[in-house]
Amino acid sequence: MEYNADNVFAKILRGEIPCKKIYEDDYALSFYDINPKAKVHALVISKGMYRDYNDFVNHSTDDEIAGYSRAVLKVADLLGLTTSGYRIVFNTGKDSGQEVPHLHAHILG
Ligand code: AMP
Repeated sequence: MEYNADNVFAKILRGEIPCKKIYEDDYALSFYDINPKAKVHALVISKGMYRDYNDFVNHSTDDEIAGYSRAVLKVADLLGLTTSGYRIVFNTGKDSGQEVPHLHAHILG
């Protein structure tokens, strides 16, 4: 399955749709989920065009994996969650309920 650049997160990356930004670097962009399912609910999307976690780990570079992983932790830290604790969720694959086909971590605190 090919990556489809029509998805809402690709549009946010291109600046076509606004977001409530938390953090951005060369590997990731983070913003608040529009429909929060926890007291704190952030999303961290990859700068690279990957459909999901399987696609990302199978096809990205080690630099991208390291940079993206560090960005996820950076966001948890910025949100003040590293001491209290948080969940990271990657909905992946047809039975996961993934709605947006662009790699994203949910950070739930
Ligand atoms: P998933 O089911 O893992 O694909 O999660 C997609 C998430 O994206 C859901 O939690 C949505 O609430 C969230 N979402 C969809 N559109 C936007 C948007 N424009 N800005 C922020 N979050 C969004």
